[in-house]
This record gives sequence, structure tokens and C-alpha cells, in this order.
Amino acid sequence: MRCSIDLDRPGKREGYVQLNHSNNRHAYGVIPLPIGVIAGDTGPTALLTAGNHGDEYEGIVILQRLFHVLEPDQVHGRIIFMPSLNLPAVREYQRTSPLDGANMNRVFGDPALSGPTREIATFVEETLISQADFAIDLHSGGKMCEFSPCGFIYGVGDKEHLQNKIRAAHHFGAKYTVVVEGSSGSLSAAGERAGIVMLSAELGGGRIQRENIEIGYTGTTNTLAGWGLLADSPRETRTTFLRSGFAGSSVMSPIAGAFEPLTNVGQAVHTGEVVGRIHSLDALDQPPVTVCAESAGIVVGQRAQAHILRGDFLLHLGEEVEESELLKPLN
Ligand SMILES: [Zn+2]
Repeated sequence: MRCSIDLDRPGKREGYVQLNHSNNRHAYGVIPLPIGVIAGDTGPTALLTAGNHGDEYEGIVILQRLFHVLEPDQVHGRIIFMPSLNLPAVREYQRTSPLDGANMNRVFGDPALSGPTREIATFVEETLISQADFAIDLHSGGKMCEFSPCGFIYGVGDKEHLQNKIRAAHHFGAKYTVVVEGSSGSLSAAGERAGIVMLSAELGGGRIQRENIEIGYTGTTNTLAGWGLLADSPRETRTTFLRSGFAGSSVMSPIAGAFEPLTNVGQAVHTGEVVGRIHSLDALDQPPVTVCAESAGIVVGQRAQAHILRGDFLLHLGEEVEESELLKPLN
């Protein structure tokens, strides 16, 4: 893939990474993925990405806004922007790529995979992450899910690396930061392979919410400041860490129907608490089925669409974890 701009020289430039793809819609042209760079004096390199999933526009709004207000004389080092990473999916407002059906956040790091989505991931990992010191990948729940606005870090690596990620999560400053083991196919996993300090975020979802944009925008700029990339000193913000993936942390729907949520994201629930009701779509003789939390926790994410099938997720829960616990590596 060819990048139309010089990423090294000082200054502010925007252009395209050219994805070659030939099908009925794109016969002989390229799909131009937007890329920008703001480079000031010497310093580290940060990569900022959004649109990894094509129906998550919060990060696109944040990175577009930041690119247009930030100037090279405010930057120590270099910030590379790719706000619509999986542009084919972003253009269609779909989570996965319409070109090959791939979920971009599952195709990093596997040389056996091929296709346009994998091609973008390879460019990001081999050309951008390889020259970055830091990265932030902005997500949300897209059309399907609403997250309590939160940071995400992988709870892996040695103590110093974990401390760097914990510090970044505090500077991002969302109320909660979820610590996960992670998967090998994500952009965050690519960051881990390269040994860079990497943070992702889930900034709401369902619909764009102004407060989530502000959390993501101030979180991104404050994290950049904490990494020494901006002239301003970072504000000393704090986050509370949550762990997910424990037994009962995912609440699934037992039947198909209409989901009536009885919780809000960010709230605490106790074991056995009724968190939702499922109503029949096609009969009046069946009472609603109540759904209970099998474990206590904070509602990190909740289904945003009412139409559900048996097995669809309704809620994701997180449980609070002390920072000292995080420094005991998972792997
Ligand atoms: Zn996402």
C-alpha cells in the first residue's frame, strides 16, 4: 500500500493510503484511506486511529476535530492520524468490511489471512506501529451496543510496561478502564507485539453523545500530553480499573424478542438483580421473561438495539480491581 504523504518531515500534511481493490464498484481505482501527520520538533511518535469498526463514528469525530485544531508548533515529536481506518466499512456504516466481510480487529498478525481488510492491518502494523512509541485506538459500541465511556488496556507485559499503560489510562481519565487479556488479532495486540504503550477506548455507542465525545477528546489530548507530545503538562486525572471476562460477566438473552433494559451503563448491579425483560413479539399470552445478573458488577456495556435473538448479549459487566492486582501479570 502506498502512502501519498511524507510522514517524516516536520509540518502538517494530509493525504491517503491507497488500498487497491478491484470489484464491480471499484474496478480500476483505489480506495483512498485518509491519513494525516502533525510533526513538530524532535520527540516520540504517537499513532491515533478510529474507524477500525465502521459503525463507530465517535473516534472519527474526535480525530477529525483534533487534526484540524492542532498545529506543528504545539507538538513535540509526531502524531499520525488514521481516523477512518477501515474506510470501506466506515463508508457503509457497517462494523465489518463490505469488501471481504472481515472484522478488522481480528485480522492483525496472522500471515495466513489475506484480503483488503488484512492488507490495511498489515500496513498499520508493519509501517505505522513499527515506527510508533505510543498508540490510541478509539472505538464505541457502534449501532449494537452502548458502553459506559471507558479506556481499555491489555493486562499483559512486564511491570514497567504495565505501569506505563496504567499511567496512560489515568491520563485518559475516563471514569472506568477495563483491563482485558485481549486477543492476538486486534490492533492493541499488534501494539503489544511491538512493545509500544497502547490504549484503546469505548466511547458510548448507539448514538453519538456529546459528553462521550468530550471524554474521548480531552482523554486523547491529555494522554498525548502525558506522553510528552504536547506543550501542555497533563492534568492529573484518575480512572478506576475494572476486570471483565469473569463467570457471569456476560449476560445473554434466553429467548428472542424485544429487550427492555432495566439498567443504565456505568451503574452497579448485584447478583440476582433483574437487569432486563424480554417481551414476545408475536403473542399476548406469554408474560415477559425476566433476565437476572448472575454476578455483581458495573454495567460496562449494554445492548442498544431492542430486537434480540436467543444468545444475543444484553449486558457486559466489569468488577473493580486494585491497581496493585494489575501489576501481577496475567501471562
Ligand atoms: Zn470497535
